[in-house]
Amino acid sequence: MKSFDVPVFYRSPLISAIKKKRKEMDKMKKDFSPTLLDFGPLRIRLARHFGFCYGVENAIEIAFRTVAENPGKRIFLLSEMIHNPQVNADLRSHGIQFLQDTYGKQLIPFADLTAEDVVMIPAFGTTLEIEKMLNGIGIQTEKYNTTCPFVEKVWNRSEAIAKKEYSIVIHGKPKHEETRATFSHAAGSAPAVVVEDMRQAESLAGYIRGDKPASLFYEEFAGQYSNGFDISKDLERIGVVNQTTMLASDTQAISDFLRQEMVKKFGLTEASVAGRFADTRDTLCYATLDNQTAVSGMLDAPADLAIVVGGYNSSNTSHLVELCEEKLPTYFISSADNILSRDEIIHYDFHHKMESVIRNYLPGTTPVSILITSGASCPDALVEGIIRKLAGYFDVEFTADDMMEQFT
Ligand code: SF4
Repeated sequence: MKSFDVPVFYRSPLISAIKKKRKEMDKMKKDFSPTLLDFGPLRIRLARHFGFCYGVENAIEIAFRTVAENPGKRIFLLSEMIHNPQVNADLRSHGIQFLQDTYGKQLIPFADLTAEDVVMIPAFGTTLEIEKMLNGIGIQTEKYNTTCPFVEKVWNRSEAIAKKEYSIVIHGKPKHEETRATFSHAAGSAPAVVVEDMRQAESLAGYIRGDKPASLFYEEFAGQYSNGFDISKDLERIGVVNQTTMLASDTQAISDFLRQEMVKKFGLTEASVAGRFADTRDTLCYATLDNQTAVSGMLDAPADLAIVVGGYNSSNTSHLVELCEEKLPTYFISSADNILSRDEIIHYDFHHKMESVIRNYLPGTTPVSILITSGASCPDALVEGIIRKLAGYFDVEFTADDMMEQFT
């Protein structure tokens, strides 16, 4: 896979060495067991896959190159480049201004832009409407477009099934930048509707079966269907695509469920189902899949607790938290600063969108065993900072070379 020129302060010598070693030992990516860092009284197991993905490294490389290539120009990002507060703060410190927040709220009016400005499109992509508006001002969006190729792949998949006259059901978070962008691209070529979870999929099935009044659909799915969506005919042939960072098991369950509903409604057989339900397979990206599989592998190991590192608004990170929470006490933190002491940690409860201080998060007896992973937009340097802080509570000091000796 291509390597990117990402600022060195995002890297961690320890974690880079571990990742390199694991890659050499498992070229076919078959072993999803975690990496054990045995510090004696503290045992840390690092997920086999975590941290910056292809799309994030690509976006960061383009962002810093944009700054270098455009001295004296105003440089804007449509919204957060990726969902990591440190990376976004670094970009701001280089003079990059954000036009919108994560939820599409305008921070700087588009009317303030001129053809002389540089506007970058974030890794999530953007809507056709915004792209058109920027081009209308005279801003060339192609040059500094950081849209991840795996997001574009979903758009291409939507377009392909739209050409075969299927409507598009998008499994995603309706307000997430990527889902808004995918919705816009899908709706440009076919009727489209967003379902956030299984509850909404079950509700949509009520309209497929025809046992819910059509008028209710427009109320229930307000803001989630394309203009002109006709409930009387636009659910007769469907295909499911998803936001690239959803939970793989959720997307699979929703897709299987809707497929079954189509089979029942239209009396289909395995041979005829493709005529009503497009086989899109899932459109999760490789990083989401690898990180989620690695968490499952990590959870097979014995542990007292799990720490998941990432931006609080990061969708892929929250799904890693969800997986860990099913098995053991889990703390969602954005950096080592969340670890206040040996006794207190600031945990972000993403279900209720609030931080709280949790006491006695570390057990009193040793060895303490901790699982650690991070989201696709989290720099490895942050994870190393967390390992070092935790090790400090057990009077452990180490160098990357010390730890690498465990693997040789
Ligand atoms: S998580 Fe996947 S889709 Fe999102 S930026 Fe990374 S590689 Fe691209």
